[in-house]
Amino acid sequence: MTRDELLAKIQTQLKPARFAHVQRVEATAVRLAAKYGVDQEKASIAGLVHDYAKQRPDQDFIDAIKANQLDPDLLNWNNAIWHGVVGPVFIKAELHIYDEEILDAVRYHTTGNRFMTPLAQIIYMADYIEPGRDFDGVEQARLLTDQDLALAVAYQTKHTLAYLIANNQPVYPKTLATYNAWVPQSQLD
Ligand code: GDP
Ligand code: FE
Ligand code: FE
Repeated sequence: MTRDELLAKIQTQLKPARFAHVQRVEATAVRLAAKYGVDQEKASIAGLVHDYAKQRPDQDFIDAIKANQLDPDLLNWNNAIWHGVVGPVFIKAELHIYDEEILDAVRYHTTGNRFMTPLAQIIYMADYIEPGRDFDGVEQARLLTDQDLALAVAYQTKHTLAYLIANNQPVYPKTLATYNAWVPQSQLD
């Protein structure tokens, strides 16, 4: 499938604002891939598909979790978690992308993971710092991402967890595991 064919399929699934976001994530991810010596085509594909399932009905995810015998605890969560963790079910079936490194980058793009390849770290950061993002700390995140990818992952992980706690949101266990794996031994201020 060409990039244009992939784009056309993704566009059928996403509203214009979300479609524009995934293209900015792609551009950011490709730039970071060049900088860090990661496969730029994988970065392009992973960036484009990372939110492929973001605008599907909840019932699609519930059906997919059951049909694929995914962790039943997923049923206690919602779209914010499902679109990443369960997204690869739809990406495989509908886009015929089977590269497990790309699929893992999608799986971990929201919550992170203890182990993330450089590609997964790039998608995690590109989603956070793409030029359309505007929140307190995004400039610091952009600087860190260009200086030290692992430190940037730690920064995002710390700030996302702090944000969830400040807003009384439930913390998905993998988000906490990511925090424990990346933040305490980092050199973050
Ligand atoms: P987006 O899909 O491009 O908007 O970005 P993400 O996939 O990174 O994030 C989707 C949403 O999930 C954001 O609002 C995050 O704050 C939220 N999120 C990330 N981790 C957790 C978590 O552990 N628990 C909950 N409840 N939400 C989370
Ligand atoms: Fe997402
Ligand atoms: Fe995204």
